[in-house]
This record gives sequence, C-alpha cells and structure tokens, in this order.
Amino acid sequence: MSLSLAPDIQAGRLEAADYAQRFADATPRLTRAQAVLEAERCLYCYDAPCATACPTHIDVPSFIKRIGESNLRGAARAILEANPLGGMCARVCPTENLCEAVCVRNTQEGKPVAIGRLQRHAVDALMESAQPQIFTRAAPTGKKIAVVGAGPAGLSCAHTLAKLGHSVVVFDAKPKPGGLNEYGLASYKTTNNFAQAEVLWLLSIGGIELRHSWRLSGVAQLDALRRDFDALFLGMGLPNTHQLGVPGESLYGVQDAVDFIATLRQTEDLATLSIGRQVVVIGGGMTAVDAAVQAKLLGAQDVHMVYRRGPEAMGASKAEQEWALTNGVVIHHWLSPEAVLPNSVDAHCAGAVSFARQKMQDGKLVATGETLVLEADMVLKAIGQTLGNPLLAQANFELLGGRIATDANGLTNLPGVWAGGDCRAGGLDLTVEAVEHGKLSAQAIHAALSA
Ligand SMILES: Cc1cc2nc3c(=O)[nH]c(=O)nc-3n(C[C@H](O)[C@H](O)[C@H](O)COP(=O)(O)OP(=O)(O)OC[C@H]3O[C@@H](n4cnc5c(N)ncnc54)[C@H](O)[C@@H]3O)c2cc1C
Ligand code: SF4
Repeated sequence: MSLSLAPDIQAGRLEAADYAQRFADATPRLTRAQAVLEAERCLYCYDAPCATACPTHIDVPSFIKRIGESNLRGAARAILEANPLGGMCARVCPTENLCEAVCVRNTQEGKPVAIGRLQRHAVDALMESAQPQIFTRAAPTGKKIAVVGAGPAGLSCAHTLAKLGHSVVVFDAKPKPGGLNEYGLASYKTTNNFAQAEVLWLLSIGGIELRHSWRLSGVAQLDALRRDFDALFLGMGLPNTHQLGVPGESLYGVQDAVDFIATLRQTEDLATLSIGRQVVVIGGGMTAVDAAVQAKLLGAQDVHMVYRRGPEAMGASKAEQEWALTNGVVIHHWLSPEAVLPNSVDAHCAGAVSFARQKMQDGKLVATGETLVLEADMVLKAIGQTLGNPLLAQANFELLGGRIATDANGLTNLPGVWAGGDCRAGGLDLTVEAVEHGKLSAQAIHAALSA
C-alpha cells in the first residue's frame, strides 16, 4: 500500500464558532416543566429496583416524588445523602446499565424514567441556589484522616468523614482536584467547569484541607501518613496506561487516549488543539469512545475505532457505541494491532496501522492470517489503565491483578489503611462505584475510630 500524503496533524480545523457548538452539553438540562412531566412517569415502586441497581443506593422514588412536588431542595438532599457526587454521577453514569436498566417503565412503555436527568435537575438547582450547603458537620471528633487521591473515591471519603466530624487532609499528585472528573471524562458530559464547582461544594462542608501537587511514591511517605494520621484512605485510581507493545509505537502521532483527553479538558481554546486528519483509536471501552468522538468533533476527517473482539465484548455500553456511530466514528471489530507504520513522506511520523484479523476458536482469540491497514496521522491508545505503582509491592500490600485487595468496606491487609475506587481490585471502574467505595470506607473508618 502506498501512503502518499504527508502527515497532517493541525489545530484550527473548524470555524471558531463551531467549537462551542460541537462541545456543548451533550444532554442538556431538563426544564422545570419537562422535569415535572418526567417525574410523573415514576410509579414510586415499593422495593424500587432502580435504588437497588444504583451502586450508591439512592432512594430514587423518594427524590423523584419530591421533584413532582416541586421540592427540589428536598430531592437534592435525598440524592446527596447517598451520593455526595450526585451531580457528576447524574451526568456520567451509564444509566442504561444501572438504575434505568431495571425501571418498570421499560416493559410498560419501552422507555425508562430519565432518572439521571432528573437527578441532575435537582442537584444543579441546589448548587445554583443561594444556600447550596444542606449538611451540617457533627461535633469535632479530634481524629485526623489522610486521603491520597482527590478523585471521586477520595472526595467521597473525605466528605463523608468531614460530615461525621473528623478532620481530613486530601493529598493529590495533580495541580487540580477531581481526578478523572477533571482530567478524564468527555468534555461534553461535564461542561461549564462543573467538576470544580462540585469540588467547591464538597469542600464547603468544612474540615477538609486539600494539598495538591503531592505524590505518594515511597514507603517512607506511606509510613509517615500512617504514623501522623488516625487512618489512611488510598483512592489513587489507575494512573498508568497499557502500551500496545508493537513496532512503531514511539512514532510521532502515537499517543495515550487518556493524555489526549486530559489535554483537551485543560485547553481553554479548543481551536489551538492539534488533531490528525485520519485518526485511529485502538480499544473498545469508554475511553476509546470518548477519544474517538472528541477527535471527530475537533474536525478529524476520518476516525476509526478498532477493537480486537466482537461488539458484545466491548467495554463501551450499547448507548456509547451508538453515540460514537452518531458522531461519524467508524467502529471495526476483530482486529488486533500488529505495527504502527511510518509515513512514507516523513518516516518519523505515524502513517498507518496494520491490524491482524482475529476470530474466536475454541474459546480463544486467534489470528485468521488476514491483515488490514488503516491510514493514520494520529493513533490514540485506549487499551486500559493500570495502577503500576511499585510502592504497593514494596509496602507489602496484598494485590489482585495489580490492584489493591480489600474487604467489602475497603480495608486492606495493612492495619489502618483503606482503599477504594479504580485502584481497588474487583470493581466496575465507574465514577459512581468509586463514590460508593469512598463512602463505605469512610463509614468503616468512623466505626473503627469510634470503637
Ligand atoms: C477517559 C475516561 C472516561 C471515562 N468516562 C466515564 C464515564 O463516562 N462514566 C463513568 O461512570 N466512568 C467513566 N470513567 C471511569 C471513571 O472516571 C473512574 O472509574 C473514576 O474516576 C475512578 O475514580 P477514582 O477516585 O478511583 O480515581 P481517579 O478519578 O483516577 O482519581 C485518582 C486521583 O489520585 C491521584 N493520584 C494517583 N496516584 C497518586 C499518587 N501516587 N499520589 C498522589 N495522588 C495520586 C490522581 O492525580 C487522581 O486525582 C472514565 C474513565 C476514563 C479514563
Ligand atoms: S447515581 Fe447513577 S446509577 Fe445511581 S440513580 Fe443516579 S444516575 Fe442512576
């Protein structure tokens, strides 16, 4: 195959006005009238399956009933008592796999109650009100807890502990708090700087000190935290990304999808952000969809998302796959990357990716012998993240599949140390689950310190 065109990665592919329009809120907020109408579709089921399906067990019928009665403050209280990051979860939860999947209205009307959108309606109204704080802290306990990681797990843990009267110090390696809420989620899911607005609301409970640009990297630091604080919670997420391990991976134009999204989320003027003309995204999860759609929105001509198994095995939900297709992304299945090929005009740059076709044989993925070459100025790798912090093994943490092993409440094998969110073994890798982990560990820490 001859690759004749010079690599084409450039900024400003769109008219200035198009950026704002393309990156606007993907699911705009319900109006008051729409919210009341939608709330009236709820049957307020006894033993509501949605509340059980929600990882944070929000009392869904109760908050929806309050929206129907125009009691938005009461609705927000019911949400935030169970899920302190209910505003972000309302925007990013894959509801089609969680609460809305089991809504009785699915069988009756073929359409669930829009639980996520109603949740956002109530929480946004509270946050924009004159008095957004609804919780009061318990009397000070005199106990101090350290939290490493200011992502959803760490923030949920810190907020729950502060509410119970403890003092909390949150340490984070990055300059801004929020974890992937700030650096990872697709920008059209969380517009208007919502991640930082939510952090401000969480901190307004009091009793939480934030120390940014501080990285936990040595056993001595860990020992000091365990010595100086009454308990320690680790919510470090999965900071490293898997590599393809194929020739050509270091060519110019090949990048981690998570880094690409982080840069996009931190760029004020999207017209300054460079994007390829032909983009290939490798992976089949939420990160791959987010990277592919945002590449297309930035003006890439062709975006191909390539996954090595079939559609049913993809990490991205059906709704996310449809979202990618709606935005003009071409999805390929059963293709595994063999090599990133250099561009024929400039050999330092990526020019194409060669894939080996796969099939399932006796339960195993095997190559069929066929290959496919897709042209690419830019290659985004989205094949999963890993914890990869050597400190954990050095400190004798029990690990499972490279993540921290814990009991159901997040207690690790090291006394006084809890862990939750993506860094904890055996999870769903979702924002809402990280929030639940943080909340449960905070309650367990409180019980341990009160015993
Ligand atoms: C691109 C992308 C898109 C996603 N989209 C969705 C979505 O739409 N919906 C959804 O529900 N989930 C989504 N997820 C998953 C979701 O973002 C995560 O499950 C969630 O953020 C996990 O929260 P956490 O608190 O465990 O970790 P993180 O959000 O990763 O936060 C961890 C924090 O710890 C800090 N940290 C790491 N190491 C150290 C250290 N050594 N010292 C100090 N601080 C440290 C980091 O700086 C970070 O702030 C997405 C993930 C990615 C990567
Ligand atoms: S937090 Fe997520 S899963 Fe739970 S009710 Fe809200 S939208 Fe549904």
